[in-house]
Amino acid sequence: MRMSEANLKIPGAAIVEVVPLSGFDKSLAYAVPPASLKEIEVGSLVRIPLRRRSELGVVLRLGTEQEIPLGKLKMLYEVVQDYPVLTGELIALYHWARHYYATSPEAILEAMIPPAIRRGMRPKMRRYLSLGSSPEVEALAALKKRAPKQAALLNFIAQQLKPQPRAAILKRLKIGASACDALVKKGYLLETDTEEAREAYADSLGEVETVEAAEIRLTLTREQSVAVKAITAAISADAFSVRLLHGVTGSGKTEVYLNAVEQVVAKGGGVVVLVPEVALAPQTVGRVRARLEARGVRTVVWHSHLSDGERYDSWKALVSGEAHVVVGARSAVFAPVQNLKLMIVDEEHEPSYKQEDNPRYHGRDVAVYRAHLAGAVCLVGSATPSLETLYNVERGKYAVDRLLKRVDHCELPRIHLVDMRREGLTGRAKGSPISSMLADKLVDRFEKREQSILFLNRRGFSTSLLCPECGYVAACKHCSIPKTYHRTDHSLRCHLCGDEEKAPPRCPECRSEAIRYRGQGTQQIESIVQKILPRAKIVRMDADSMSKKNLYRKILNDFRAGKIDILVGTQMIAKGLDFPNVTLVGLINADMSLHVEDFRAAERTFQLIVQVSGRAGRGDRAGEVIIQTSTPHAPPVQFARKSDFDGFQLEELEQRREFNYPPFQHLIRHLFRGRNPEKVKFFIEQWARRVEEHFGDRLTVRGPASAPIEKIRDEYRFQLWYFAPSAEAVIDELTALRQDFKMDKSVIDQLDVDPMQMS
Ligand code: ADP
Ligand code: ZN
Ligand code: ZN
Repeated sequence: MRMSEANLKIPGAAIVEVVPLSGFDKSLAYAVPPASLKEIEVGSLVRIPLRRRSELGVVLRLGTEQEIPLGKLKMLYEVVQDYPVLTGELIALYHWARHYYATSPEAILEAMIPPAIRRGMRPKMRRYLSLGSSPEVEALAALKKRAPKQAALLNFIAQQLKPQPRAAILKRLKIGASACDALVKKGYLLETDTEEAREAYADSLGEVETVEAAEIRLTLTREQSVAVKAITAAISADAFSVRLLHGVTGSGKTEVYLNAVEQVVAKGGGVVVLVPEVALAPQTVGRVRARLEARGVRTVVWHSHLSDGERYDSWKALVSGEAHVVVGARSAVFAPVQNLKLMIVDEEHEPSYKQEDNPRYHGRDVAVYRAHLAGAVCLVGSATPSLETLYNVERGKYAVDRLLKRVDHCELPRIHLVDMRREGLTGRAKGSPISSMLADKLVDRFEKREQSILFLNRRGFSTSLLCPECGYVAACKHCSIPKTYHRTDHSLRCHLCGDEEKAPPRCPECRSEAIRYRGQGTQQIESIVQKILPRAKIVRMDADSMSKKNLYRKILNDFRAGKIDILVGTQMIAKGLDFPNVTLVGLINADMSLHVEDFRAAERTFQLIVQVSGRAGRGDRAGEVIIQTSTPHAPPVQFARKSDFDGFQLEELEQRREFNYPPFQHLIRHLFRGRNPEKVKFFIEQWARRVEEHFGDRLTVRGPASAPIEKIRDEYRFQLWYFAPSAEAVIDELTALRQDFKMDKSVIDQLDVDPMQMS
């Protein structure tokens, strides 16, 4: 809403409520200078005087005299962007998210507004020179005599047909700025500023995968058309609704998404597509662009790895309405798409949707709420939906479309379980992390020139230094976890605080040289497999290669091109990969994730096995999966082996119900930390009593107890868990109560609503 002429006539309308972007966790009132009256609106980014400095802030409200008393109001300086940085819908989302996640205005605005915009970045402007009023003959003669440089510049510009870029021309003619300024002052030259078109998306385009033309339009399978029909009806209803697309791996969910996107943009609607990992954005953007480009619809990318310039361009394209579709990771849920009609959350079960530092928001949940505000359809998809989403389906809050078959009659892969306890006793490969069955099948695939992927379950996993003589474990001095051994430089590193040292040749406790490395890292698996298959090309993909975007891309391209036989990695690489020539998938240590202190442990294990299995047999050859486990009878392992989604859901929901865990109750985690454990304990106990007194049986409190990781960076950690039927109903009260509770400055606490991380 632009502030209209009518609006201006309301007395006091020239006062606005502004929330500063940093350093002040409250909104403030400012008067609007006459020059800015026409451009200011709700959501505008403005420059304001604050504590004798010039800061940026966002206009939350256009005030009236009654609401904000005039008094000694300061005047804001200016409106910074041509477009509001937050639309009305995003402002409503801001208010909701700030309360729901018990966080500060500053933190939530930081998540919502890209850094480049927050720093007040403007479009790149270029100054051009053109001819102004022509000088009199005598004046011109005088100029030639007394200021030859000015005369030369004027002469040059006079011969040009188009305005010339000032900086470039001055440099080329070797003329100083003062000569040019003098000509402008006399009116002989005119200066105009034009927004420079950047080489739009050059960088991100380079990243986008090329999509084969043949793939562009597929005939939908029966199941796909049923789903598309149902989604079409929801879109036509033009009202808020949430639908789960529950499709097995390889069932063609993306094709269904693309259909929905096409329908919405055909009607001029805007779309946000969320993917769980930055690295997956280029692949998805490529497919969306291939589909929409013919319609002249622009799609932009949005994630934290873009440069400031790219970020700015994406932002500008969305706020100006040039682009209607955005694809990105978590933070894209806040992208300023106009006329939002569809939100898609792919792989909605992924924990990466939850931001693990302040503000601790969940991208999927914010997406659902934003769709609600916008009256849009929210489509969440997964082969292994979260229990939260499944429960919403069960209660009738979400509709569901199911794809039970893979496209092209591909079979779901055959899953074998290998009991590693028995393997350790009798197997040929005694003591090796690769079972004899897995070794045989790797050899078989290599001989058939087919590809394999080996996954290492990283969760709860550590590769540590252990002394077999005295039991010494190399632990971090500052954190209560074992350090990880890195073979490349023989170092021991703490993955929490980064502390690093050389691995000792003997045990520091008993001087034994038998000290050895326990556990299996991707490096170790790689070298063991290389011994089994000396001629095979094996490539490791881990956190290091994931962070280098070119390396990651190169590995995937090489793998697709068949230049790599075996890919070894953590489950990070399980997401969304689709390689038709992969016929064998091995999961080295399936149940590592069962042994962590987390009520979602079973869910995670089930999801992991189903997801990694889904990478096998996507082409015309059937796939096989080998799951190595030491708990083959654990329910999540068994249900996953049989691909029994309903069975797993039923049993797991029953378990959760019994203990009142999510999705039956909301969980809020309250962590207290500090260097002095006695002090932390004292305050958390006092606070727990206060909460119990205040809420009575409206809130169940569990704890205080030590956090699973008791110490990080020399700080001791204790936590409380709150259970409530609705987080919304208690969170504001909890926050207010907390503000009245005085604590020693050395103790820091933090609330995590609907936490995903329990450690
Ligand atoms: P999912 O996300 O459900 O695991 P994808 O969307 O990645 O599955 O699709 C798996 C593969 O099937 C892709 O290569 C895709 O191009 C192909 N595919 C999808 N739908 C069809 C269809 N209707 N006909 C033929 N191939 C399809
Ligand atoms: Zn020892
Ligand atoms: Zn540490």
